[in-house]
Amino acid sequence: MNEFRIAIVGAGPAGYFAAQALQNSQTDELKIGIDLFEKLPTPWGLVRTGVAPDHPKIKSVSKVFEKIASEENFRLFCGVEIGVDISITELQQKYDAVIIATGSAVGKKLGIPGEDLSGVFSAAEFVPWYNAHLEFVDLPVQLDSEVAVVIGAGNVAMDVARILAIEPSELDATDTSLTALSALHNSKIREVHLFARRGPEHAAFTSPELRELPKLEHTDVYLDKDEVEAALERVTSAGEIPKDLNSNLEAMLAIAQAPKKNVPRSLHIHFLSTPTLISGDKQVHGITFQINQIQDGKVIATDQTMTIACGLVVSAIGYEAKEISELPLENGRVVNVNGRVSAGLYVVGWAKRGPSGVIGTNKSDSTEVVALIVADLTTPKEKSDISELLVSRKIKFIKQTDWSKLNEAEVEAGQAAGKPRIKFTDRKQIDSVLEVTQ
Ligand code: NAP
Repeated sequence: MNEFRIAIVGAGPAGYFAAQALQNSQTDELKIGIDLFEKLPTPWGLVRTGVAPDHPKIKSVSKVFEKIASEENFRLFCGVEIGVDISITELQQKYDAVIIATGSAVGKKLGIPGEDLSGVFSAAEFVPWYNAHLEFVDLPVQLDSEVAVVIGAGNVAMDVARILAIEPSELDATDTSLTALSALHNSKIREVHLFARRGPEHAAFTSPELRELPKLEHTDVYLDKDEVEAALERVTSAGEIPKDLNSNLEAMLAIAQAPKKNVPRSLHIHFLSTPTLISGDKQVHGITFQINQIQDGKVIATDQTMTIACGLVVSAIGYEAKEISELPLENGRVVNVNGRVSAGLYVVGWAKRGPSGVIGTNKSDSTEVVALIVADLTTPKEKSDISELLVSRKIKFIKQTDWSKLNEAEVEAGQAAGKPRIKFTDRKQIDSVLEVTQ
Protein backbone atom coordinates (compact mmCIF):
# COMPACT_ATOMS: atom_id res chain seq x y z
CA MET A 1 0.00 0.00 0.00
CA ASN A 2 1.23 3.51 -0.86
CA GLU A 3 0.80 6.36 1.64
CA PHE A 4 1.14 9.86 0.24
CA ARG A 5 0.94 13.26 1.93
CA ILE A 6 -0.60 16.21 0.13
CA ALA A 7 -0.60 19.87 1.20
CA ILE A 8 -3.41 22.23 0.26
CA VAL A 9 -2.81 25.97 0.61
CA GLY A 10 -5.95 28.00 1.33
CA ALA A 11 -8.93 26.82 3.40
CA GLY A 12 -11.73 28.17 1.21
CA PRO A 13 -14.26 26.19 -0.83
CA ALA A 14 -11.75 25.12 -3.52
CA GLY A 15 -9.32 23.87 -0.85
CA TYR A 16 -11.97 21.89 1.05
CA PHE A 17 -13.39 20.40 -2.15
CA ALA A 18 -9.85 19.35 -3.17
CA ALA A 19 -9.50 17.65 0.24
CA GLN A 20 -12.85 15.92 -0.27
CA ALA A 21 -11.84 14.70 -3.75
CA LEU A 22 -8.55 13.36 -2.30
CA GLN A 23 -10.51 11.56 0.44
CA ASN A 24 -12.79 10.05 -2.20
CA SER A 25 -9.75 8.88 -4.21
CA GLN A 26 -8.48 6.62 -1.44
CA THR A 27 -8.55 2.86 -1.98
CA ASP A 28 -7.16 -0.15 -0.09
CA GLU A 29 -3.90 0.42 -2.02
CA LEU A 30 -3.81 4.21 -1.86
CA LYS A 31 -3.85 6.26 1.35
CA ILE A 32 -3.57 10.05 1.32
CA GLY A 33 -2.82 12.27 4.32
CA ILE A 34 -4.06 15.83 3.84
CA ASP A 35 -2.69 18.98 5.52
CA LEU A 36 -4.73 22.14 4.83
CA PHE A 37 -2.89 25.45 5.41
CA GLU A 38 -4.59 28.81 5.93
CA LYS A 39 -2.98 32.18 6.72
CA LEU A 40 -5.94 33.44 8.81
CA PRO A 41 -6.69 31.96 12.25
CA THR A 42 -10.04 30.77 10.83
CA PRO A 43 -10.91 28.57 7.83
CA TRP A 44 -13.78 28.54 5.24
CA GLY A 45 -12.46 31.38 3.03
CA LEU A 46 -15.19 33.22 1.13
CA VAL A 47 -17.91 31.26 2.93
CA ARG A 48 -16.87 33.15 6.06
CA THR A 49 -15.61 36.44 4.64
CA GLY A 50 -17.21 36.76 1.19
CA VAL A 51 -20.80 35.49 1.17
CA ALA A 52 -23.24 38.28 2.05
CA PRO A 53 -24.42 38.06 5.68
CA ASP A 54 -28.07 38.26 4.59
CA HIS A 55 -27.58 35.05 2.55
CA PRO A 56 -27.09 32.59 5.43
CA LYS A 57 -28.30 29.54 3.47
CA ILE A 58 -25.25 29.75 1.18
CA LYS A 59 -23.05 29.44 4.27
CA SER A 60 -24.55 26.07 5.23
CA VAL A 61 -21.88 24.48 2.96
CA SER A 62 -19.58 24.96 5.97
CA LYS A 63 -21.20 21.78 7.39
CA VAL A 64 -19.72 19.90 4.42
CA PHE A 65 -16.31 21.46 5.18
CA GLU A 66 -16.49 20.33 8.81
CA LYS A 67 -17.47 16.80 7.72
CA ILE A 68 -14.36 16.72 5.48
CA ALA A 69 -12.29 18.01 8.42
CA SER A 70 -13.61 15.27 10.71
CA GLU A 71 -12.01 12.51 8.59
CA GLU A 72 -8.97 10.81 10.09
CA ASN A 73 -6.62 11.70 7.21
CA PHE A 74 -7.22 15.48 7.52
CA ARG A 75 -5.23 18.07 9.50
CA LEU A 76 -5.83 21.84 9.61
CA PHE A 77 -3.02 24.39 10.08
CA CYS A 78 -4.53 27.87 10.37
CA GLY A 79 -2.30 30.88 11.06
CA VAL A 80 0.41 29.64 8.68
CA GLU A 81 1.18 31.85 5.68
CA ILE A 82 2.76 30.03 2.77
CA GLY A 83 5.34 32.23 1.06
CA VAL A 84 6.06 33.95 4.41
CA ASP A 85 6.25 31.36 7.23
CA ILE A 86 7.03 28.41 4.96
CA SER A 87 8.07 28.54 1.31
CA ILE A 88 6.47 26.57 -1.48
CA THR A 89 9.81 24.79 -2.04
CA GLU A 90 9.81 23.71 1.62
CA LEU A 91 6.26 22.42 1.27
CA GLN A 92 7.25 20.50 -1.85
CA GLN A 93 10.10 18.83 0.06
CA LYS A 94 7.64 17.62 2.70
CA TYR A 95 4.70 16.56 0.52
CA ASP A 96 4.12 14.38 -2.51
CA ALA A 97 2.00 17.14 -4.04
CA VAL A 98 1.08 20.73 -3.19
CA ILE A 99 -2.26 22.23 -4.23
CA ILE A 100 -2.67 26.02 -4.30
CA ALA A 101 -6.23 27.13 -3.45
CA THR A 102 -5.63 30.74 -2.47
CA GLY A 103 -8.39 32.29 -4.58
CA SER A 104 -8.34 35.85 -5.97
CA ALA A 105 -7.96 38.26 -3.09
CA VAL A 106 -6.99 41.47 -4.91
CA GLY A 107 -9.62 43.79 -6.41
CA LYS A 108 -9.13 44.81 -10.05
CA LYS A 109 -8.42 48.50 -10.50
CA LEU A 110 -10.65 50.80 -12.52
CA GLY A 111 -7.53 52.60 -13.73
CA ILE A 112 -9.16 56.06 -13.68
CA PRO A 113 -8.08 59.26 -11.90
CA GLY A 114 -9.25 59.63 -8.31
CA GLU A 115 -9.25 55.92 -7.47
CA ASP A 116 -6.92 56.57 -4.52
CA LEU A 117 -9.16 59.16 -2.81
CA SER A 118 -10.54 58.44 0.67
CA GLY A 119 -13.96 56.87 0.46
CA VAL A 120 -13.09 54.83 -2.66
CA PHE A 121 -12.83 51.10 -2.02
CA SER A 122 -12.62 47.89 -3.93
CA ALA A 123 -15.13 45.15 -3.12
CA ALA A 124 -12.01 43.11 -2.22
CA GLU A 125 -11.74 45.42 0.84
CA PHE A 126 -15.37 46.40 1.41
CA VAL A 127 -16.89 42.90 1.43
CA PRO A 128 -14.37 41.51 3.96
CA TRP A 129 -14.93 44.70 6.03
CA TYR A 130 -18.62 43.94 6.59
CA ASN A 131 -17.81 40.24 6.96
CA ALA A 132 -15.38 40.69 9.89
CA HIS A 133 -12.21 39.60 8.03
CA LEU A 134 -9.36 40.24 10.48
CA GLU A 135 -7.30 42.19 7.93
CA PHE A 136 -10.16 44.51 6.89
CA VAL A 137 -12.29 44.98 9.99
CA ASP A 138 -10.72 48.39 10.64
CA LEU A 139 -11.05 49.71 7.07
CA PRO A 140 -11.75 53.47 7.37
CA VAL A 141 -15.28 53.31 5.93
CA GLN A 142 -17.34 56.47 6.42
CA LEU A 143 -21.02 56.30 5.60
CA ASP A 144 -21.70 59.99 6.24
CA SER A 145 -23.00 61.12 2.87
CA GLU A 146 -26.44 60.52 1.42
CA VAL A 147 -25.33 58.91 -1.85
CA ALA A 148 -23.14 55.86 -2.47
CA VAL A 149 -22.03 54.52 -5.86
CA VAL A 150 -21.23 50.90 -6.70
CA ILE A 151 -19.48 50.02 -9.98
CA GLY A 152 -20.03 46.66 -11.71
CA ALA A 153 -22.90 44.45 -12.85
CA GLY A 154 -22.04 41.20 -11.12
CA ASN A 155 -23.32 39.50 -7.98
CA VAL A 156 -20.61 41.08 -5.84
CA ALA A 157 -21.70 44.59 -6.90
CA MET A 158 -25.26 43.53 -6.14
CA ASP A 159 -24.29 42.25 -2.66
CA VAL A 160 -22.47 45.51 -1.84
CA ALA A 161 -25.32 47.70 -3.14
CA ARG A 162 -27.92 45.68 -1.20
CA ILE A 163 -25.96 45.77 2.07
CA LEU A 164 -25.63 49.56 1.75
CA ALA A 165 -29.26 50.09 0.73
CA ILE A 166 -31.24 47.91 3.14
CA GLU A 167 -32.57 48.96 6.52
CA PRO A 168 -29.67 47.92 8.82
CA SER A 169 -31.98 46.23 11.33
CA GLU A 170 -32.41 43.57 8.61
CA LEU A 171 -28.79 42.65 9.36
CA ASP A 172 -29.18 42.50 13.16
CA ALA A 173 -29.86 38.76 13.15
CA THR A 174 -26.88 38.00 10.88
CA ASP A 175 -23.15 37.50 11.41
CA THR A 176 -22.24 40.93 9.95
CA SER A 177 -19.14 42.38 11.63
CA LEU A 178 -20.26 44.29 14.74
CA THR A 179 -18.13 47.27 13.65
CA ALA A 180 -19.76 47.34 10.22
CA LEU A 181 -23.22 46.79 11.66
CA SER A 182 -22.80 49.77 13.97
CA ALA A 183 -21.53 51.90 11.04
CA LEU A 184 -24.51 50.80 8.92
CA HIS A 185 -26.94 51.69 11.73
CA ASN A 186 -25.41 55.18 11.84
CA SER A 187 -25.17 55.42 8.04
CA LYS A 188 -26.54 58.54 6.36
CA ILE A 189 -26.67 56.76 3.01
CA ARG A 190 -30.19 56.69 1.60
CA GLU A 191 -29.52 56.39 -2.16
CA VAL A 192 -27.32 53.70 -3.64
CA HIS A 193 -26.57 53.88 -7.38
CA LEU A 194 -25.14 50.84 -9.16
CA PHE A 195 -23.59 51.44 -12.60
CA ALA A 196 -22.96 48.88 -15.35
CA ARG A 197 -20.87 49.84 -18.37
CA ARG A 198 -22.85 47.69 -20.83
CA GLY A 199 -26.57 46.89 -21.36
CA PRO A 200 -29.06 44.83 -19.29
CA GLU A 201 -28.46 41.86 -21.61
CA HIS A 202 -24.74 41.88 -20.73
CA ALA A 203 -25.10 42.05 -16.95
CA ALA A 204 -23.44 39.27 -14.94
CA PHE A 205 -26.08 39.29 -12.16
CA THR A 206 -27.93 36.01 -11.74
CA SER A 207 -31.72 35.99 -11.60
CA PRO A 208 -32.26 34.69 -8.01
CA GLU A 209 -30.27 37.73 -6.80
CA LEU A 210 -32.31 40.09 -9.03
CA ARG A 211 -35.60 38.54 -7.93
CA GLU A 212 -34.81 39.33 -4.30
CA LEU A 213 -34.75 43.07 -4.94
CA PRO A 214 -38.47 43.89 -5.27
CA LYS A 215 -39.03 41.93 -2.04
CA LEU A 216 -36.84 44.26 0.03
CA GLU A 217 -39.14 45.62 2.71
CA HIS A 218 -37.57 49.00 3.36
CA THR A 219 -35.90 49.84 0.04
CA ASP A 220 -37.35 50.82 -3.34
CA VAL A 221 -35.37 49.52 -6.31
CA TYR A 222 -35.42 51.50 -9.55
CA LEU A 223 -34.46 50.25 -12.99
CA ASP A 224 -35.56 51.78 -16.31
CA LYS A 225 -38.28 49.63 -17.93
CA ASP A 226 -37.55 51.10 -21.40
CA GLU A 227 -33.90 50.05 -21.14
CA VAL A 228 -34.87 46.44 -20.32
CA GLU A 229 -37.46 46.36 -23.12
CA ALA A 230 -34.89 47.69 -25.58
CA ALA A 231 -32.49 44.96 -24.45
CA LEU A 232 -35.23 42.33 -24.89
CA GLU A 233 -35.86 43.62 -28.40
CA ARG A 234 -32.16 43.46 -29.27
CA VAL A 235 -31.72 39.91 -28.02
CA THR A 236 -34.98 38.68 -29.57
CA SER A 237 -34.05 40.07 -32.97
CA ALA A 238 -30.71 38.25 -32.71
CA GLY A 239 -32.39 34.82 -32.37
CA GLU A 240 -33.52 32.54 -29.55
CA ILE A 241 -32.80 33.99 -26.09
CA PRO A 242 -30.72 31.71 -23.82
CA LYS A 243 -32.79 30.60 -20.79
CA ASP A 244 -30.62 32.31 -18.14
CA LEU A 245 -30.57 35.58 -20.05
CA ASN A 246 -34.34 35.49 -20.49
CA SER A 247 -34.76 34.84 -16.79
CA ASN A 248 -32.45 37.78 -15.97
CA LEU A 249 -34.28 40.19 -18.25
CA GLU A 250 -37.65 39.06 -16.87
CA ALA A 251 -36.36 39.62 -13.34
CA MET A 252 -35.21 43.12 -14.35
CA LEU A 253 -38.62 43.90 -15.85
CA ALA A 254 -40.23 42.74 -12.60
CA ILE A 255 -37.99 45.18 -10.69
CA ALA A 256 -38.88 48.03 -13.07
CA GLN A 257 -42.61 47.31 -12.80
CA ALA A 258 -42.78 46.58 -9.06
CA PRO A 259 -44.96 49.10 -7.18
CA LYS A 260 -42.80 51.48 -5.17
CA LYS A 261 -43.25 51.77 -1.42
CA ASN A 262 -42.09 55.39 -1.31
CA VAL A 263 -39.70 54.64 1.51
CA PRO A 264 -36.62 56.79 2.22
CA ARG A 265 -34.10 54.15 1.09
CA SER A 266 -33.52 53.46 -2.60
CA LEU A 267 -31.29 51.43 -4.90
CA HIS A 268 -30.96 52.55 -8.55
CA ILE A 269 -29.54 50.30 -11.27
CA HIS A 270 -28.10 52.13 -14.30
CA PHE A 271 -26.71 50.67 -17.52
CA LEU A 272 -24.41 51.89 -20.33
CA SER A 273 -22.28 54.07 -18.07
CA THR A 274 -18.47 53.78 -17.96
CA PRO A 275 -16.71 55.51 -15.04
CA THR A 276 -14.04 57.95 -16.26
CA LEU A 277 -13.15 60.19 -13.30
CA ILE A 278 -13.53 60.14 -9.52
CA SER A 279 -13.37 63.66 -8.15
CA GLY A 280 -12.73 65.09 -4.70
CA ASP A 281 -10.04 66.80 -2.65
CA LYS A 282 -8.80 64.21 -0.17
CA GLN A 283 -12.26 62.62 0.09
CA VAL A 284 -14.37 61.53 -2.87
CA HIS A 285 -17.06 64.06 -3.81
CA GLY A 286 -18.37 62.62 -7.05
CA ILE A 287 -17.89 60.35 -10.02
CA THR A 288 -18.25 61.01 -13.75
CA PHE A 289 -19.48 58.51 -16.31
CA GLN A 290 -19.27 58.41 -20.07
CA ILE A 291 -22.67 57.42 -21.44
CA ASN A 292 -22.64 54.54 -23.93
CA GLN A 293 -25.11 53.24 -26.47
CA ILE A 294 -25.55 49.95 -28.28
CA GLN A 295 -25.27 49.99 -32.06
CA ASP A 296 -25.33 46.81 -34.16
CA GLY A 297 -24.83 44.78 -31.01
CA LYS A 298 -21.74 46.78 -30.00
CA VAL A 299 -21.38 49.04 -26.97
CA ILE A 300 -19.97 52.37 -28.11
CA ALA A 301 -19.21 55.63 -26.33
CA THR A 302 -21.34 58.73 -26.95
CA ASP A 303 -20.06 62.25 -26.30
CA GLN A 304 -22.39 62.57 -23.32
CA THR A 305 -21.18 62.40 -19.73
CA MET A 306 -22.97 62.39 -16.40
CA THR A 307 -21.63 63.27 -12.94
CA ILE A 308 -23.16 62.19 -9.67
CA ALA A 309 -22.21 63.63 -6.27
CA CYS A 310 -21.42 60.93 -3.71
CA GLY A 311 -19.31 60.28 -0.61
CA LEU A 312 -18.57 56.58 -1.15
CA VAL A 313 -17.53 54.59 -4.23
CA VAL A 314 -17.12 50.81 -4.20
CA SER A 315 -15.84 49.11 -7.35
CA ALA A 316 -16.82 45.47 -7.77
CA ILE A 317 -15.31 44.73 -11.16
CA GLY A 318 -13.55 41.42 -10.53
CA TYR A 319 -10.53 40.07 -8.71
CA GLU A 320 -6.96 38.88 -9.29
CA ALA A 321 -4.84 36.33 -7.45
CA LYS A 322 -2.52 37.77 -4.80
CA GLU A 323 1.20 37.29 -5.37
CA ILE A 324 2.83 34.46 -3.43
CA SER A 325 6.58 34.06 -3.60
CA GLU A 326 7.66 31.36 -6.14
CA LEU A 327 4.20 31.17 -7.72
CA PRO A 328 3.98 32.25 -11.41
CA LEU A 329 1.05 34.62 -12.09
CA GLU A 330 -0.35 35.82 -15.40
CA ASN A 331 -3.60 37.71 -16.08
CA GLY A 332 -4.50 37.57 -12.39
CA ARG A 333 -4.24 33.77 -12.23
CA VAL A 334 -1.61 31.17 -11.37
CA VAL A 335 -0.04 29.99 -14.63
CA ASN A 336 -1.30 26.43 -15.16
CA VAL A 337 -2.42 23.85 -17.69
CA ASN A 338 -5.62 22.18 -16.50
CA GLY A 339 -4.52 22.79 -12.91
CA ARG A 340 -0.88 21.63 -13.30
CA VAL A 341 1.63 24.38 -12.46
CA SER A 342 4.88 22.34 -12.45
CA ALA A 343 6.01 18.91 -11.24
CA GLY A 344 4.15 18.22 -7.98
CA LEU A 345 2.53 21.69 -7.87
CA TYR A 346 -1.15 22.20 -8.74
CA VAL A 347 -3.79 24.92 -8.51
CA VAL A 348 -7.58 24.83 -8.05
CA GLY A 349 -10.47 27.31 -7.74
CA TRP A 350 -10.34 31.02 -8.53
CA ALA A 351 -6.50 31.04 -8.38
CA LYS A 352 -6.64 28.56 -11.30
CA ARG A 353 -9.50 29.77 -13.49
CA GLY A 354 -10.16 33.34 -12.32
CA PRO A 355 -13.04 34.69 -10.22
CA SER A 356 -16.07 32.99 -11.74
CA GLY A 357 -18.84 30.64 -10.75
CA VAL A 358 -20.68 29.89 -7.55
CA ILE A 359 -19.26 27.97 -4.57
CA GLY A 360 -20.40 24.63 -6.03
CA THR A 361 -18.41 25.29 -9.24
CA ASN A 362 -15.27 24.67 -7.19
CA LYS A 363 -16.35 21.12 -6.40
CA SER A 364 -16.21 19.88 -10.01
CA ASP A 365 -13.10 22.01 -10.66
CA SER A 366 -11.19 20.59 -7.68
CA THR A 367 -12.35 17.04 -8.46
CA GLU A 368 -10.96 17.29 -12.01
CA VAL A 369 -7.56 18.54 -10.81
CA VAL A 370 -7.37 15.90 -8.06
CA ALA A 371 -7.90 13.18 -10.72
CA LEU A 372 -4.74 14.50 -12.47
CA ILE A 373 -2.82 14.61 -9.19
CA VAL A 374 -3.71 11.05 -8.27
CA ALA A 375 -2.69 9.89 -11.76
CA ASP A 376 0.67 11.71 -11.33
CA LEU A 377 1.50 10.10 -7.93
CA THR A 378 4.29 7.51 -8.21
CA THR A 379 6.33 6.63 -5.10
CA PRO A 380 5.83 8.38 -1.74
CA LYS A 381 8.75 10.64 -0.70
CA GLU A 382 10.81 10.17 2.47
CA LYS A 383 9.74 13.14 4.56
CA SER A 384 9.37 14.51 8.07
CA ASP A 385 6.26 16.02 9.64
CA ILE A 386 5.68 19.74 8.89
CA SER A 387 4.73 20.31 12.55
CA GLU A 388 8.44 20.02 13.52
CA LEU A 389 9.36 22.84 11.15
CA LEU A 390 6.44 25.00 12.36
CA VAL A 391 7.41 24.46 16.00
CA SER A 392 11.08 25.19 15.28
CA ARG A 393 10.01 28.50 13.65
CA LYS A 394 7.74 29.34 16.60
CA ILE A 395 4.71 29.61 14.33
CA LYS A 396 1.56 29.51 16.44
CA PHE A 397 -0.56 27.30 14.26
CA ILE A 398 -4.20 26.60 14.98
CA LYS A 399 -5.33 22.99 14.70
CA GLN A 400 -8.79 21.64 13.89
CA THR A 401 -9.54 21.09 17.59
CA ASP A 402 -8.59 24.73 18.31
CA TRP A 403 -10.77 25.97 15.46
CA SER A 404 -13.67 23.83 16.75
CA LYS A 405 -13.36 25.61 20.11
CA LEU A 406 -13.36 29.02 18.44
CA ASN A 407 -16.25 28.02 16.18
CA GLU A 408 -18.32 26.93 19.19
CA ALA A 409 -17.43 30.09 21.13
CA GLU A 410 -18.51 32.30 18.21
CA VAL A 411 -21.80 30.44 17.83
CA GLU A 412 -22.41 30.62 21.58
CA ALA A 413 -21.73 34.39 21.61
CA GLY A 414 -24.12 34.74 18.68
CA GLN A 415 -26.92 32.78 20.34
CA ALA A 416 -27.02 35.23 23.21
CA ALA A 417 -27.49 38.06 20.68
CA GLY A 418 -29.96 36.27 18.37
CA LYS A 419 -27.36 35.80 15.62
CA PRO A 420 -25.89 32.67 13.98
CA ARG A 421 -22.49 33.69 15.39
CA ILE A 422 -20.42 36.70 16.37
CA LYS A 423 -17.12 36.53 14.52
CA PHE A 424 -14.23 37.40 16.79
CA THR A 425 -12.08 40.13 15.31
CA ASP A 426 -9.62 40.69 18.12
CA ARG A 427 -6.52 38.49 17.98
CA LYS A 428 -6.11 38.55 21.77
CA GLN A 429 -9.68 37.34 22.20
CA ILE A 430 -9.07 34.62 19.60
CA ASP A 431 -5.84 33.53 21.33
CA SER A 432 -7.52 33.36 24.73
CA VAL A 433 -10.32 31.16 23.37
CA LEU A 434 -7.90 28.98 21.48
CA GLU A 435 -5.23 28.47 24.15
CA VAL A 436 -2.86 28.04 21.21
CA THR A 437 -0.57 25.02 21.37
CA GLN A 438 2.80 26.69 21.61
P1 NAP B 1 -18.41 39.23 -12.32
O1 NAP B 1 -19.65 38.43 -12.24
O2 NAP B 1 -17.37 38.83 -13.31
O3 NAP B 1 -18.85 40.76 -12.62
C1 NAP B 1 -17.89 41.76 -12.80
C2 NAP B 1 -18.57 42.99 -13.36
O4 NAP B 1 -17.61 44.03 -13.41
C3 NAP B 1 -19.09 42.82 -14.77
O5 NAP B 1 -20.37 43.38 -14.84
C4 NAP B 1 -18.11 43.63 -15.62
O6 NAP B 1 -18.68 44.23 -16.75
C5 NAP B 1 -17.73 44.72 -14.65
N1 NAP B 1 -16.48 45.37 -14.99
C6 NAP B 1 -15.26 44.81 -15.21
N2 NAP B 1 -14.34 45.75 -15.46
C7 NAP B 1 -14.99 46.94 -15.40
C8 NAP B 1 -14.59 48.29 -15.56
N3 NAP B 1 -13.30 48.60 -15.83
N4 NAP B 1 -15.53 49.26 -15.42
C9 NAP B 1 -16.79 48.98 -15.15
N5 NAP B 1 -17.26 47.70 -14.98
C10 NAP B 1 -16.35 46.71 -15.11
O7 NAP B 1 -17.64 39.30 -10.94
P2 NAP B 1 -18.11 39.42 -9.42
O8 NAP B 1 -19.34 40.19 -9.28
O9 NAP B 1 -16.88 39.86 -8.71
O10 NAP B 1 -18.43 37.92 -9.02
C11 NAP B 1 -17.42 36.89 -9.08
C12 NAP B 1 -18.10 35.53 -9.10
O11 NAP B 1 -18.69 35.26 -7.83
C13 NAP B 1 -19.23 35.45 -10.13
O12 NAP B 1 -19.22 34.20 -10.74
C14 NAP B 1 -20.46 35.64 -9.27
O13 NAP B 1 -21.65 35.10 -9.82
C15 NAP B 1 -20.05 34.92 -8.00
N6 NAP B 1 -20.86 35.39 -6.87
C16 NAP B 1 -22.02 34.74 -6.63
C17 NAP B 1 -22.86 35.17 -5.63
C18 NAP B 1 -24.16 34.46 -5.38
O14 NAP B 1 -24.34 33.36 -5.88
N7 NAP B 1 -25.08 35.03 -4.65
C19 NAP B 1 -22.52 36.29 -4.86
C20 NAP B 1 -21.32 36.94 -5.13
C21 NAP B 1 -20.50 36.48 -6.15
P3 NAP B 1 -18.40 43.70 -18.24
O15 NAP B 1 -19.25 42.49 -18.37
O16 NAP B 1 -18.81 44.83 -19.08
O17 NAP B 1 -16.93 43.39 -18.31
